[in-house]
Amino acid sequence: MLEKTPRTTPSRYANQRMSYDEAVVFPILDDALFCTVSYSVDNQPFSIPTAFVRKENKLYIHGSVGSHFLREIEKGIPVCISVMLTDDLVVAKSAFNHSVNYRSVVIFSNATKIDDFEAKALFFKELTEKIVPNSWDYLRPMKEKEVNKTMLLVFDIVEASAKVRSGMPVDEEEDQGLPIWSGLIPIPSKRLTPIADELSVNIPLPEHLATT
Ligand SMILES: Cc1cc2nc3c(=O)[nH]c(=O)nc-3n(C[C@H](O)[C@H](O)[C@H](O)COP(=O)(O)OP(=O)(O)OC[C@H]3O[C@@H](n4cnc5c(N)ncnc54)[C@H](O)[C@@H]3O)c2cc1C
Repeated sequence: MLEKTPRTTPSRYANQRMSYDEAVVFPILDDALFCTVSYSVDNQPFSIPTAFVRKENKLYIHGSVGSHFLREIEKGIPVCISVMLTDDLVVAKSAFNHSVNYRSVVIFSNATKIDDFEAKALFFKELTEKIVPNSWDYLRPMKEKEVNKTMLLVFDIVEASAKVRSGMPVDEEEDQGLPIWSGLIPIPSKRLTPIADELSVNIPLPEHLATT
C-alpha cells in the first residue's frame, strides 16, 4: 500500500473512487505515455508535460541538460506529478450530471538526479520500448554523447493516489423517465496505421511498427 497523507486525501469521493494500492496505481502509470510535472519557483507555479517510465516504485523522466524545467526540479524541490487516461464521455440527461470515465494518478515526490552512464542508457532503452514497443534493437544504437547530453531524474512513488470513475451516468431519480438519450461515448486512445516520411517511402514498414 502507498502512503495516505492529508495531501493525498480528497474532500470528495474519498472512499468510492480513490485507491492507494500499487495494484491500481502502477497499471495506470504503465498505460500512460505522458505525465505532467508541477512545481513552484518563487511562488510561480509551472506545469510541464513530459514522457516517463515507471519501474517498481520509481518514476523516471529525462530531458536536455539545458532544460530550465529539469534544472529547477533536480534541486529536489517538491513536485506533484499527475497522469490521466480518459475512457468515456459520460452523457447524462442533464448537463449537471455529465461526467468522464477516467483513471488518474497524483504523486507527491522530489527528484534525484542519476549520473551513472549505464543506468541512463538502460532508461533510454526502457522509455523507447514503452513508447514504441520492440523498436530498440531495430534503431541506430544510441551514442555516448546523446546519453551525456541528457539529464535523468528519478522520483519515489510513495505518497500517491489513484482515482477511477467507471460506469454509466447517474441521473436524478426525477430525470430518469425523460426522453433524453444518456449513456457513454467511448474515447479510446489508440495507435492507427503509421505514416511514412519522405525518407521512408521505399523502406518496408517493420513488423513491430505494423502491430503496435
Ligand atoms: C479527465 C478528468 C476530468 C475531470 N473533470 C472534473 C471536473 O470537471 N470537475 C471536477 O470537480 N472534477 C473533475 N475531475 C476530478 C478531479 O480530478 C478531482 O478529483 C476533483 O475535482 C477533486 O476533488 P477534491 O476536491 O475532493 O480533491 P482535493 O481535495 O483537491 O484533492 C486532495 C488529494 O486527493 C488526490 N486526488 C484528487 N483528485 C485526484 C485524481 N483525479 N486522481 C488521483 N488523485 C487525486 C490528490 O492526492 C490530491 O492532492 C476530473 C478528473 C479527470 C481525470
